[in-house]
Amino acid sequence: MMLMAWIFLGVPDIDLALMPILHHRSIITHSILPALVFLILGRSLGAAPIAGALIGISVHLACDMLSPMVGFAQIWLPQPFLIPLGPLSYLWLGANVLVGYVLALRLAMASLHPGIAVPFAVALSGVTGAAYGALNEQSAAAVMVSVLFPLMTAGWLFLRSRTKAA
Ligand SMILES: [Zn+2]
Repeated sequence: MMLMAWIFLGVPDIDLALMPILHHRSIITHSILPALVFLILGRSLGAAPIAGALIGISVHLACDMLSPMVGFAQIWLPQPFLIPLGPLSYLWLGANVLVGYVLALRLAMASLHPGIAVPFAVALSGVTGAAYGALNEQSAAAVMVSVLFPLMTAGWLFLRSRTKAA
């Protein structure tokens, strides 16, 4: 899980290598799509690596929300459109981060002991965010979003399971 979180942390920015078609911060790589492709291709590996991949991508997208949405920081549609989403970029990133964490926490709960699954996933996300923030020199905010988002998601999942049980 940890290895995949670190590998997939960098995956959204492979759009830099595909610049002629995709533009940086492409909507295709800046989404949970790469993790879903991995989910289909790597199903035999089990739930843990896929949870890690989702955490890596979610950390990256959450940190990308920290930059003001102008120019290259926005989410871009691929060729032949090549237009930016503007303020909708926040909505796109936020929605993908939330879905990413819901799936990641579910998979973590399936592969780890229920008592440690959520703390482990939140800690992994926080550490990954700290590393990513250090690389991008925005550490404090990066750690905060990386811890806050999975915590909020875990809280929401918890409340939902309680209302279901009641
Ligand atoms: Zn990015």
